[in-house]
Parts: sequence; C-alpha cells; structure tokens
Amino acid sequence: LVEQVMRMLKPIADKKDVILEIESYREVFAEVDETKMYLVFMNLIENSIKYNNEYGKVTVTINADHRDLNIQIMDTGVGIPPESVDKVFQRFYRVDKTRSRDTGGTGLGLSIVNKTILLHGGSIKCLSEEGVGTTFIIRLPLSQTMK
Ligand code: ATP
Ligand code: MG
Repeated sequence: LVEQVMRMLKPIADKKDVILEIESYREVFAEVDETKMYLVFMNLIENSIKYNNEYGKVTVTINADHRDLNIQIMDTGVGIPPESVDKVFQRFYRVDKTRSRDTGGTGLGLSIVNKTILLHGGSIKCLSEEGVGTTFIIRLPLSQTMK
C-alpha cells in the first residue's frame, strides 16, 4: 500500500525534489481495510510532501513485533509548533492560515486518519520540531499474521 501511494505521489514529490523512501526489513502482513488504509497513507504522505522543503525527504519505516505493526512517517519539513501538535488531529484544524494558504486543503485529512486508525484498534501520535521535521507514529494490532 505504501509503495502504491508513493508511486501516485511521486510526480508531486518530484516537483519539489523531495525524495520518498521506504525502510522495511521484511514483509509484514496485517488485516486491514485496504481502501481506508490506502487513504491513511495517502493523507500522511501527501502532508509530508506538502509541508516539506525543496530537496527534503520522506521516510516511511515499517516494523512489526509479535503483536503490533509499527509504521513511522518521517519528514524533513517545516515542522509543527509545540502548542499545535496535539491539535492537528482535530477537524478543520490547520496550523497557520497564512502559511498553509498557498498549500490548500480543508484540515480534514488527519482527523480522518486518526479515526481510521482508532477503528482498527490502533493509535497514532505526532512528534515534531519546527524547522526540523515531523514524524507520525502508528501502532496497529496485527489481528492476524500470515508469515
Ligand atoms: P487536507 O488534508 O484536508 O487537504 P490539511 O493538509 O491542511 O488539509 P490535515 O492533513 O488534517 O489538513 O493537517 C492539519 C494541519 O497540520 C495542516 O494544515 C498542517 O498545518 C499541519 N501538518 C500536517 N502534517 C504536517 C507535516 N507533515 N508537517 C508539518 N505540518 C503538518
Ligand atoms: Mg492533509
């Protein structure tokens, strides 16, 4: 799914010379709603390109232990101020109206992402430093693992 989303978004990334990378050391299988999870990755990776700098980078890391799937979407973008980090999952919240005016968007992406992850019994959190970058960390239970 992540590869599929990256292929879709590559033209947008190329316009800013942003590199898209996946780090995963083995194949992981999880039981998920494919369409909903596709949209999760679409939203998160689109954000990490949209709020990135020219020549920036997006790294998606996928790992799993015996219980959970762990996915990190890390970017080298503009970051989010500390007082806003907890608000980005709220409906219609956008950090800086002037900053994000030219990027467009409704502010709904992350609220949908958050709901989808919760529906899958998982969790998502955001770590960010202004001027350094942002990382979204997803934990999803592997309801069924096929090796
Ligand atoms: P939409 O996704 O609905 O088109 P949006 O991207 O503004 O619009 P969200 O995806 O919900 O909405 O993100 C909310 C806000 O959080 C964004 O407007 C932006 O300010 C901030 N944000 C989200 N992801 C990042 C990121 N990777 N780096 C920096 N800021 C981010
Ligand atoms: Mg968005």
